[in-house]
Amino acid sequence: MQSIDKIYIDGEFVTPHGEEMFDLFNPATEQVIGRVRLADEHDANRAVAAAKRAFASFSRTSKSERLDMLQSMGNAVAAREDELYEAIVEEYGSPVVRARWMAKYAQTAMAEAAKTLRQYDFTRRINESEVVMQPVGVAGLITPWNANAHFICNKLATAMAAGCTAVIKPSEMSAIQTRIVTEALHEAGVPAGVFNIVTGRGDVVGATMSAHPDIAKISFTGSTAVGKTILRAGADTLKRITLELGGKSPFIVLDDANFEEAVPLALQAGFMNNGQACIAGTRILVPQQRLAEFEMRIRAAAEKTQSGDPRDPATVIGPMVSEKQWNRVQRYIRIGIDEGARLLTGGEGRPDGLKSGWFVRPTVFTDVHNDMTIAREEIFGPVLSIIAYRDLEEAIAIANDTTYGLQAYVVSADAAKAREVVSRIDAGRVMINAITHDPAVPFGGFKQSGIGREMGTMGLEAYLEPKSVMGTF
Ligand code: NAD
Repeated sequence: MQSIDKIYIDGEFVTPHGEEMFDLFNPATEQVIGRVRLADEHDANRAVAAAKRAFASFSRTSKSERLDMLQSMGNAVAAREDELYEAIVEEYGSPVVRARWMAKYAQTAMAEAAKTLRQYDFTRRINESEVVMQPVGVAGLITPWNANAHFICNKLATAMAAGCTAVIKPSEMSAIQTRIVTEALHEAGVPAGVFNIVTGRGDVVGATMSAHPDIAKISFTGSTAVGKTILRAGADTLKRITLELGGKSPFIVLDDANFEEAVPLALQAGFMNNGQACIAGTRILVPQQRLAEFEMRIRAAAEKTQSGDPRDPATVIGPMVSEKQWNRVQRYIRIGIDEGARLLTGGEGRPDGLKSGWFVRPTVFTDVHNDMTIAREEIFGPVLSIIAYRDLEEAIAIANDTTYGLQAYVVSADAAKAREVVSRIDAGRVMINAITHDPAVPFGGFKQSGIGREMGTMGLEAYLEPKSVMGTF
């Protein structure tokens, strides 16, 4: 049982002014594994004040000083990889292979930000003028629970690479991961106040940050509903706002696709991160004339997909993060049935043999129409919808008929045809015959999947303001 009763402000671990206690669970057992004392508005204000003080000197550090800091931070997080891995399995319920990847990914984020910084030119010439990219100010970084350690490291490393100081509000449900990352970052010896980490409720600490006059920029990853609240709260002070929000990504199977490859890829895209992935390919678009064949194959493959104990190496889908999330997923399965979609496999309740833990049956619906609730709303669990299409035009129309636009997938044996489809899809990232990631290329969404981009040079520039210097010099 862990007791977490410290937040991190101005280079020190301090007891929060807030007194509310929040339980942490192991989602595989439903047992309480820890308690965290939450920060409040007072703590948030103290953290912003510390970041503001630190900004005066940190914003003037050289590129090489910041590179040294990122290096030390990356090393410190790497040294805690095993502990972080344990926390990701225990507190989040990630299956072991994925948890190992996530634990490593936190440190990789530091190295990637350093790589971007190393090649970035903060000054450029246009005609007779000089354009200087200047750090925007104190950044407020707000993260969700589905990859908390990574989001903390990625957002902080990018903000610091730009010369910004930061106040981080991690998900209150991921406090064990946050404690490990905070201790590691503290050991890295970064000057006091450059980063501050205040775990608290979103509508308390997050809301204070979103309206705070001394925060110049918010970078938020989370739900579209909260993203809109932050945008409204930031309007009065005209904050620069980056929003990485939800998705309802299409997985488009073209009529020439090899189903032996397409089906495993579709399940990987849909079930990744226990189905709790913003980029999950949850709408599987299949040509009508090959629907029966696709259904047969995906049903067989989904029935072999193990949803259960995250510590069992055969497990692909671990538990939902919380009881609330489990109930939400169950509700969507019920809505799918009620609206007339046909259950191909899975359904309500826990997988056979499991009596506790927030486990969900890997679920695939077919005969889904794109106007059904399960095709429109983000479920954030292992529940997929097959939507049949008649021709390519209809496939593209269905793919784009969504309020989201984060990611899309196209599977085809014909590269030229796949490229043609990709050119007409509205999404921030499109995968052709693969599921891959490149931390140097922009990540973010069209439409209500967000505003702005993270990663690489575009991600760095989201923390910078251009200043044009003109005249005689
Ligand atoms: P959430 O929006 O409920 O919470 C995200 C964070 O915002 C948490 O730290 C929360 O405490 C905080 N928050 C809540 N209310 C707030 C408020 N009023 N003001 C400021 N902050 C507030 O999301 P979640 O349930 O933690 O995560 C799941 C969501 O995140 C899904 O919708 C998913 O698609 C999205 N997500 C997006 C990406 C992406 O990169 N696009 C990545 C992962 C998750």
